Amino acid sequence: MTDVDVIVVGAGPGGSTAARGIAAGGASVLLLDRAKFPRDKPCGGGVTVRGANILPFSIDPVVEDVVTQARMRLRERREVTRNAKAPLTFMTQRRRLDAFLVEKAQEMGAEFRDGQTVTDVKQFADSTFEVRTKDGSHHARVVIGADGANGVVGNRLGYEAAGESAVALEGNIVFPGGVPSEFRGKVTLNFGHVPGGYGWVFPKGDHINVGVGGWKAAAGPILRAALQRLCRTYGLDFDAVTGLRGHHLPMQRRGMVMAAAGSAVVGDAAGLVDPLSGEGITAALLSGTAVAPSVRDYLDGRVATLAGYQATLEREYLPEFEASRALMEIFNVNPAPFVWMLQHLGPFWDGACRMIRGEVTYIDLTHVAGPVSYHLLGPTAKVSRLITSRRVTRG
Ligand SMILES: Cc1cc2nc3c(=O)[nH]c(=O)nc-3n(C[C@H](O)[C@H](O)[C@H](O)COP(=O)(O)OP(=O)(O)OC[C@H]3O[C@@H](n4cnc5c(N)ncnc54)[C@H](O)[C@@H]3O)c2cc1C
Repeated sequence: MTDVDVIVVGAGPGGSTAARGIAAGGASVLLLDRAKFPRDKPCGGGVTVRGANILPFSIDPVVEDVVTQARMRLRERREVTRNAKAPLTFMTQRRRLDAFLVEKAQEMGAEFRDGQTVTDVKQFADSTFEVRTKDGSHHARVVIGADGANGVVGNRLGYEAAGESAVALEGNIVFPGGVPSEFRGKVTLNFGHVPGGYGWVFPKGDHINVGVGGWKAAAGPILRAALQRLCRTYGLDFDAVTGLRGHHLPMQRRGMVMAAAGSAVVGDAAGLVDPLSGEGITAALLSGTAVAPSVRDYLDGRVATLAGYQATLEREYLPEFEASRALMEIFNVNPAPFVWMLQHLGPFWDGACRMIRGEVTYIDLTHVAGPVSYHLLGPTAKVSRLITSRRVTRG
């Protein structure tokens, strides 16, 4: 049995960031993942500038394209390309990004063991933990659940599971001769076909990633057809799509507990995916970073629980998350005016770019429309939700 200060279960961006931050403080950390690394996972692999800036090092070694422009279109209507003239999103492959982030955790002293499926987690009366894998068991004072949607840590320790109201389907098309220039340096976004979501084309080194995502019950059954249509719209061969995979996007429920005595959940395990954009890497990096100081305080006996981590997120991220959820409801009643504004109104496009870069938040953006707009957000979202619930079943 290994005996360490902290076990982090799951070596995605949330887990490796938590492991790195905790190990940097001098604690012994065991980072476990069920997959053999490097491993891929269903994800567009887009890391926003805001997300990348959370890290104290550059992710350049694993960046395959830098997005500065967006091609935006409502269904099959006229496409408009806007240029931010500065980086918005870094395109990576998860197999490379996640292995790179694990290396950074190892450099700080975390021990990484892959191919280790955690099957059970138990907390003893003295508040320490036993973490079981198929190969044995480990003992620790702290356990961090970074094991994604429906993770075993949250499940065994009694955390409420995040909602699974959104799903996405994605795959790759390889271009041995290089990605066509029409896709390089740009995100291609198509709105209006998938209830509660959108379709995308993301450029990578020698391939593009194509995907569609939306509300589970309304979009789930039509995702394959929607991806076929997306390919047709952009002159791509659906039969050339490889590695087609679907996955849930966990969404946090209001009031969810993310920390207790000696344990916490981060990233997708805490349902922190941004409701409007569907991106979760930023929140995984943010929560992985935020949990480390609380773990250090707990190990040093300065606090009795990791509640400080939850308080940090409640202060610094969850209000934004709620604003994003409200905007998602409003956007999806009728994406047309919002897509038009992104395409044609300079300040609207600039605001979106500044948000992706982390210069402003969703909340700042809602204030731009006037002093009452922020307070109208909640009620407008409620009405929007009612309208869409009547139109579509969302699960
Ligand atoms: C189709 C799709 C496209 C997406 N595109 C983007 C995008 O372009 N940009 C973006 O920001 N977000 C995107 N997301 C969301 C993003 O993928 C997640 O939010 C992000 O991966 C969350 O990181 P994480 O570290 O919390 O969890 P994960 O990356 O899911 O990592 C969890 C890890 O835990 C391991 N694990 C699970 N169970 C166990 C167990 N029992 N024992 C041991 N290990 C275990 C897994 O193997 C995995 O490595 C997308 C999601 C989907 C589904």
